[in-house]
Amino acid sequence: MVGVREELDNLVRLRHDIADGPSIALSVVVPCYNEDAGIDELYRRVSAACEPYGETYEIVLVNDGSSDATREKIFALAERDHHIVGIDLARNYGHQIALSAGLEFCRGQRIFILDADLQDPPELLGPMMAKMNEGYDVVYGLREEREGESWFKLASASLFYRILGKLSNVGIPANTGDFRLISRRTLDHLNAMPERYRFIRGMVSWIGLRQCAFPYRRHSRFAGETHYPLRKMILFAIDAVTSFSVAPLRLASHLGLAFGLLGMATLAYTIFAWALGDVLPGWTSLASITLILGSIQLLMLGIFGEYLGRMYMEAKRRPLFIVNEVVSRAAIEGTQKEPAHG
Ligand code: UDP
Ligand code: MG
Repeated sequence: MVGVREELDNLVRLRHDIADGPSIALSVVVPCYNEDAGIDELYRRVSAACEPYGETYEIVLVNDGSSDATREKIFALAERDHHIVGIDLARNYGHQIALSAGLEFCRGQRIFILDADLQDPPELLGPMMAKMNEGYDVVYGLREEREGESWFKLASASLFYRILGKLSNVGIPANTGDFRLISRRTLDHLNAMPERYRFIRGMVSWIGLRQCAFPYRRHSRFAGETHYPLRKMILFAIDAVTSFSVAPLRLASHLGLAFGLLGMATLAYTIFAWALGDVLPGWTSLASITLILGSIQLLMLGIFGEYLGRMYMEAKRRPLFIVNEVVSRAAIEGTQKEPAHG
């Protein structure tokens, strides 16, 4: 037990050491899950894009419990290049949590969020930095064209954003991902939001401040396959809706009202029919009313259960993630060569 406690203390200290270390101009944060085929290319292109920022940048690569060689590749890079911070999570926590882990460890005054598969070009860093210089806190990528994605993914994404827009009173822009450049103060607010069902692009919209869209073309994956099959996309959509809207809960009262009116009309009809002496055993109508009401009640119970379950999980106040190991030459050596910026 003591050993575990000590290990945890060490990690917490390391986290603070990194956070309190010299602040740097730019952090690039990349969650990686089974991306070993693309890591080297990612490293090459991101490093090239960061080149103009001299020494004052870091690339935070988070290994989200990959089962391939992603972890080894990240650590090898971290040992070779002091710009790399490799974070190894204790298991696969999913894209949004892996990204949250990287965001908590990074030290940059500006933070560039990227996917590991190079669908979003790292070369846009320069233009997005220029945009931010105009005084924005968030410059988010707006997908104008999406290569290599099925019509089904495009159609479902567009439907999802339309529904989300109707249900939520936070304006969450459609056709965006987590590809964006954000300011340190935005990130500090984001890191202070403790919820575990994280829909990060929505949370950034919720924060507000000055935000600006940056239209770009989204490419197909450099290597590997998407980790968002239909099932995960649906779960992600449920996270998004329940995190940003209580409208589904209100569905109960709306449906109740509609069916209440219907019930009154049926009742009036029944009494009328009875008065006329026309009392046939109405098995069909009875059966259908029972079925409709039964299924609506079950649906509503399901929605209540969804929110109740989330409140239960939140109430546990567990940490969002456990870090297994951090490798960073800069953190180990205690300093970076250059003076602090910011
Ligand atoms: N990812 C992750 N953990 C997961 C699934 C995905 O860290 O459990 C990472 C993945 O490596 C990639 C990013 O999240 O960098 C986006 O995933 P993907 O490209 O599969 O999603 P898509 O672009 O198809 O929506
Ligand atoms: Mg992708």
